[in-house]
Amino acid sequence: MKGAIRTVLGDRFAIEGVAYMHEHLILDSPLIADRFPHIHLHDVVAAVAEVARCRVAGATLVLEAMPMSAGRDVVRLAEVARRAEVDIVAATGLHHDRYYGPRHWTNFVSIDELADLFVADLVDGIDAFDYTGPIVRRTSHRAGVVKVATSGSSLDDRDRRNLQAVGQASVRTGAPVLTHCEEGKGGLEQVARLTELGVPASAIVLSHVDKSDDPGYLVALAESGAVLEFDQSLREWEAGVNSRTVRSTLLLLEHGFASSIVLGTDGARRTLWHELGGAPGLAWLASHLPSVLRAAGVGDDDLDLLLRGNAERVLRWRTVHASGSG
Ligand SMILES: [Zn+2]
Repeated sequence: MKGAIRTVLGDRFAIEGVAYMHEHLILDSPLIADRFPHIHLHDVVAAVAEVARCRVAGATLVLEAMPMSAGRDVVRLAEVARRAEVDIVAATGLHHDRYYGPRHWTNFVSIDELADLFVADLVDGIDAFDYTGPIVRRTSHRAGVVKVATSGSSLDDRDRRNLQAVGQASVRTGAPVLTHCEEGKGGLEQVARLTELGVPASAIVLSHVDKSDDPGYLVALAESGAVLEFDQSLREWEAGVNSRTVRSTLLLLEHGFASSIVLGTDGARRTLWHELGGAPGLAWLASHLPSVLRAAGVGDDDLDLLLRGNAERVLRWRTVHASGSG
């Protein structure tokens, strides 16, 4: 259905509470377990409890940002959505090369083949095995965004190829695009390439850009028409109004870009999770960040846009004229 927000348990038309716009609840691949154990998230019980804390603090929607075949598990995500009673938006697309490695099959297929798989995830349902084996068993759980990662301030061959496949999938379906900006960089190059491919800038969410503290860059990103996703506040929760997220937010508000910001935790690190013995816990975004932003001078209307309204607008699929899976 067009104009809706696609979650793993069905389409929605509104977000009632706080939207967590770049999250990690399940990250479970052999590669992650081996090379990145600090972000290895495999426990549904812990995820349900952590997300339930977010819900108590006001969250109603969580965007899970791991795309296909790199540790995503849509069956477990649907279980978390049901048990914690939050809407979860899943991603398709591809992440950074470090989550696949040079021998991964996604490096050896065509752009069209990739785009077809993204579209199938968005329109038909995500494979229960997440494209890790020869059997594909599509679930009823569909992706709501298509993700692409680039590797820095300039695009390499892999970046360009994946941007093209992701751009195609977004244009064919009307699904919004979520990007990974490595160290916050590369956002302008991503927007330039995706808009060339026909994706409206207003349907692009640029993740991690508050890792950059270049004011000119952040303002230029907002001027491009894309939405900026700020997610450094949990890492700097003790910094209060001096955190990069808060400083970047104030900068954009000064320039009139209240409609260009969404917030997330990028909380993949186990040390950020309350349920795994870390701090401050993912709920902090909904329970504490609003009062930090208020203390920094952000008004209630802007706060509603940052926490909810902008996410609701950008997650709605656009109307497309051609058939989605053609
Ligand atoms: Zn992430």
